[in-house]
Amino acid sequence: CGVVGYVGSRPATPIILEGLKKLEYRGYDSSGVAVLDQDGLKVEKKMGRLSELEKALSGKELDATIGIGHTRWATHGRPSDINAHPHTSNDGKIAVVHNGIIENYLQLREWLSAMGHVFKSETDTEVIPHLIEHFYKGDLVEAVQKTVSHLEGSYAIMAISVDQPGRIVAVRQDMPLVVGLGQGENLLASDIPALLKHTRRCYLLNDGDVVELRADRVIIRDVSGKVVEKEIFEVTWDA
Ligand code: GLU
Repeated sequence: CGVVGYVGSRPATPIILEGLKKLEYRGYDSSGVAVLDQDGLKVEKKMGRLSELEKALSGKELDATIGIGHTRWATHGRPSDINAHPHTSNDGKIAVVHNGIIENYLQLREWLSAMGHVFKSETDTEVIPHLIEHFYKGDLVEAVQKTVSHLEGSYAIMAISVDQPGRIVAVRQDMPLVVGLGQGENLLASDIPALLKHTRRCYLLNDGDVVELRADRVIIRDVSGKVVEKEIFEVTWDA
């Protein structure tokens, strides 16, 4: 399983797909991407190899310059197109990819369902975009912080929203996630090999760190919400 995110000025989808290929060694049964462009949120996801996703994307306009991608290793819900990530919020404005397991998803799902949220998949993950929607009051970072305070389990999460374009909000807990620092562009990935074509300058993240990734800056807050200065980790080896 793996995640890749990109925000910059180049088309995001090919960069994400290429990054996901570099993470294939981690294993997966499905894959998907979500991008934001002037028309809004576009999601494509498929069971099977990455070539299935590429087929589904062929002929589609791929000029969005921000997006998130995922390879899934199913833990909750069988491998299928619907259970593949990204998952979206009730209003369809927020897309989320997640590696890991949300242990308390059943309680959260019941709670959200009682409030009128309708679930499309059988995954533990789908509670995340619904929670972010529930907590969203104009700031995606704040909504993600509130969301993770309700999650038990392990996660590398990336979220994008139609209402807050130009940024990916990401957070990790007991699952790998690395920031790649580019020139006028920035990336996120589960592992360094997915970044090396674009940059050797990284931020390594601690558990609980919340990342706000934009084309021209990366802001990281620790678990208490305080902005932290990270040291740049320079990769000296080749993948
Ligand atoms: N638990 C999630 C699911 O089954 C994520 C699995 C993964 O890490 O890829 O959809």
